[in-house]
Amino acid sequence: MPHFAFDSFCDDLGPAKVVHIYDPDCDLRGVVVVDNVACGPSIGGIRMADDVSTEEVFRLARAMSMKNAAAGLPHGGGKAAILADSKTADRQRLVRAFARAIRELTEYIPGPDMGTDETCMAWTYDEIGRAVGLPRVLGGIPLDEIGATGFGIAQCAEVTTAYCDLKLQGARVAIEGFGNVGRNAARYLAEKGAVLVAASDRGGAVGDPDGIDVEQLAEVKRREGSVVALPGATQLSHQALFTVECDILVPAARPDCIHADNAEKIQAKVILQGANIPATAEAEQILYQRQVLNVPDFIANAGGVICAAVEYHGGSEAGAFGQIAEKIRRNTDEVLARSRDEKIIPRQAALELARERVQSAMALRRSS
Ligand code: NAD
Repeated sequence: MPHFAFDSFCDDLGPAKVVHIYDPDCDLRGVVVVDNVACGPSIGGIRMADDVSTEEVFRLARAMSMKNAAAGLPHGGGKAAILADSKTADRQRLVRAFARAIRELTEYIPGPDMGTDETCMAWTYDEIGRAVGLPRVLGGIPLDEIGATGFGIAQCAEVTTAYCDLKLQGARVAIEGFGNVGRNAARYLAEKGAVLVAASDRGGAVGDPDGIDVEQLAEVKRREGSVVALPGATQLSHQALFTVECDILVPAARPDCIHADNAEKIQAKVILQGANIPATAEAEQILYQRQVLNVPDFIANAGGVICAAVEYHGGSEAGAFGQIAEKIRRNTDEVLARSRDEKIIPRQAALELARERVQSAMALRRSS
């Protein structure tokens, strides 16, 4: 495990704990970073990958501190990694051993991440009685099945209409990545009267200015494996999706897909970041100068983590939808108002908001 350069990473927020785990009996190597617990026990996923560094886990844990605070959850940020190839490893053995090793680390609540899933969370729960993202049979709320993040994106969209010249009725939508987030964003936006005009996946992209039926596209992708099999639609390149004529663009697949080279050509009035870090810092500046309303990832895509927190506190699926709507609407409004009033980009406004919430919570803790 690479050396962790404390001096370059510690700041006024954290990390509170960095725990390295090694169990030679089952060849387990892992790390947990609990970044900050002022708002409550930290929630964050366990990533299984053979190339994750401690510093990367710290950065992911910090991102969770910001996301959970911005979402207004009673939880801090944490993250964990098991160093193994999730495709070839004996996942059950490693996950169970990892769970036993973090039994006493009660300020960290594990969830699924890359390389782990709800079954891994069921093993974790079986070992230590603590995990989110559980299967339905164990009281879990399957967030991808119910489209928690896509639902939140549609709520976010509704709030943006107060900040720009946009009506959801008839608004044209382009989606990069017609997967769990993108497909459900399209569905919930269509329920509000918006019209899908382009969508992409790993196989390519399709467009139709007259509108694409979201359910038909979902069925085509399920049956044929890609959106490109949609009959009657125009085939587009992956890049062309970003510059089609539309009002709302939802990047919901790859990091950094909006960059300095395409940010100038984006036609949308509003970008709702479904994926994590879908735009470079340079692109976000360009979009701000062009007055494109660009709602950052940890505000727009917080539906999943809000759903996980509701599950952890014993809430229901209906309760999760209620919390997602309430929190995402309020936070989007606060971020966009602050961005407008202080003339700063929405990401900076969101980071300030999250940091202030963590600092206020820290001020309420015993100081020694
Ligand atoms: P997913 O695997 O269900 O869907 C991803 C989609 O993107 C797939 O349809 C895939 O074919 C497509 N894709 C892959 N490469 C592409 C490319 N180069 N161009 C266009 N499309 C491409 O994943 P997901 O759960 O929808 O997550 C998508 C993103 O959203 C990830 O960045 C994830 O971290 C983030 N996110 C997900 C959730 C959630 O609730 N699932 C919550 C917050 C953030």
